[in-house]
Amino acid sequence: MAATVIDGKAFAAKVRGQVAEHVTRLKGDHGITPGLAVVLVGEDPASQVYVRNKGKQTVEVGMASFEHKLDASVSQGELLELIGKLNADPAVHGILCQLPVPDHIDSDTILGAIDPAKDVDGFHISNVGLLGTGQKAMVPCTPLGCLMMLRDHHGSLSGMDAVVIGRSNIVGKPMAQLLLGDSCTVTIAHSRTKDLAGTVRRADIVVAAVGRPEMVPGDWIKPGATVIDVGINRIERDGKNKLVGDCDYASCAEVAGAITPVPGGVGPMTIACLLANTVTACCRANGLPEPEGLTA
Ligand code: NDP
Repeated sequence: MAATVIDGKAFAAKVRGQVAEHVTRLKGDHGITPGLAVVLVGEDPASQVYVRNKGKQTVEVGMASFEHKLDASVSQGELLELIGKLNADPAVHGILCQLPVPDHIDSDTILGAIDPAKDVDGFHISNVGLLGTGQKAMVPCTPLGCLMMLRDHHGSLSGMDAVVIGRSNIVGKPMAQLLLGDSCTVTIAHSRTKDLAGTVRRADIVVAAVGRPEMVPGDWIKPGATVIDVGINRIERDGKNKLVGDCDYASCAEVAGAITPVPGGVGPMTIACLLANTVTACCRANGLPEPEGLTA
């Protein structure tokens, strides 16, 4: 039987709708407008597109968007000064510094300078520690989006066997922590994993975050398993540019119970979760109840 397609585009629209409702309530009941500040250093074309989309969607849900575009030659000190000002600005509830930053700037120093309570990317070491110890954290957006889709599809994830392929700090590791938090039995696979096919075959949930086009074939997938494909890979096929995931969609969809497509799966959830994190940060900053269903 063909897999259920988990429609990330529709799900992201639903999340943005929930965020917009919370924003309306925060404005109407408390006179508070959640604000997201995005800092972009340099002219990287892909980063410019991301920042534009983030700003557009922030405004669409009724939040305030503060964009700071800095020249590639800006010094680390000047960037830190801006972050300090945003940390102190009560109209700013979330701060994101678009990566990558130019080589003369140390990204860890910049991420470490963001107030953890405003760290809507969830990359600050304090948030990494809070997530790792099962405490209330700001959670990285892409894994949070994957978790929301899994919870929506399955209800409880308790007791399920999950395999996360990839151990990066922004996707693989936080994804594994989130699945553990939902009581899955979690295996993290990576480039040195000995029997990747056998490891994946045991999983009820497979999250692929590798960055290798169509690496996971259908015959690695346990029948009925749920496949979350985080990969975004640009390839040439039949003379055309195409986006594909880390899983071979056609063969995996024949075996899986549910699968996210690429594009239109995990991708759209990332910005939706950034907006959700900003509302969460705003509620926490003001001692208000957090939006239900939008946090880990
Ligand atoms: P990284 O390059 O940081 O990490 C890739 C991971 O894959 C590493 O842990 C690496 O292992 C592992 N890996 C590499 N080759 C193999 C292999 N042959 N077998 C098993 N594991 C392997 O990538 P990211 O985590 O940043 O991103 C992963 C993918 O997700 C990319 O395609 C990226 O574009 C996409 N992405 C999508 C987002 C979205 O919004 N949908 C957001 C972020 C990322 P090792 O550590 O041993 O080297």
